[in-house]
Amino acid sequence: MKIAKTITELKDFLGSVARDKTIGFVPTMGYLHEGHLSLIKDAHAHNDVIIVSIFVNPTQFAPGEDLDAYPRDFDRDAQLAESAGTDILFFPNAVEIYPNGSSTFVEVEGSITGKLCGQSRPTHFKGVTTVVNILFNLINPNNAYFGQKDAQQVAVIKKMVRDLHMTVTIVVCPIVREADGLALSSRNVFLNPEERSQALVLSQSLAEAKARYNLGETKVKILKEQIINLINTMPLAAIDYVDILDFETLEDIETITSPALAAVAVRFGNARLIDNIILD
Ligand code: AMP
Repeated sequence: MKIAKTITELKDFLGSVARDKTIGFVPTMGYLHEGHLSLIKDAHAHNDVIIVSIFVNPTQFAPGEDLDAYPRDFDRDAQLAESAGTDILFFPNAVEIYPNGSSTFVEVEGSITGKLCGQSRPTHFKGVTTVVNILFNLINPNNAYFGQKDAQQVAVIKKMVRDLHMTVTIVVCPIVREADGLALSSRNVFLNPEERSQALVLSQSLAEAKARYNLGETKVKILKEQIINLINTMPLAAIDYVDILDFETLEDIETITSPALAAVAVRFGNARLIDNIILD
């Protein structure tokens, strides 16, 4: 595995890739876990060359969020990335990505970025789409891999790719969970044992809503209330949002008649956790 810390090194490595080879790209913020590795393995199975980026992107964090506290362990990440089949690991610093004078942003407007995480983190997706654009421009991948864990991010990136007529194919991989159901996240490391145990309520409340939907309940208000009530039984849980929206557009719905996304964000101490399930 080659490690590129600068754009010059990245371009050098990419220059040695034959033109007929397919490039699979997995953007991450590092502190890799099995969720990230599932993306890398999927990329490895379907592409000739696998590029993984590790970049804790400052523009997607608002002042006061956990940019500085975000967990980092490059040596461990490098080992894991290599073992999952990475060919090139791109590990730039912020000045490399946003050189002095950088002032261009890419923003997807509308309810797709205004709902859910966009409501409590209004500048977040502008940072995400900007950095993903920069990375796509540098790497020019055939396929780029994202996790369903960040369902809104997937919807926003797909919209950006459509709107800007990009040729990259966005591949979405399922949520990888711990055996007890907690979705893997780099931020789980912030949880103390009591918070960790109560955080199970995210996946449990979503699974119960899905079970009720499968039994015939299609009213969003009722399903949302059920999720909220269950989460609120956990004394350490502070709900950021619970919502059920159209799966594609993230528009509000009252009744589920086509695939819908049930999504939650809940704070436990210093960790803000998200999870979701598709109702279809
Ligand atoms: P992050 O490092 O948190 O920015 O995540 C990088 C990529 O890994 C994103 O596309 C995430 O959606 C994906 N990812 C994170 N956690 C999981 C998980 N538990 N299962 C599947 N994909 C994940």
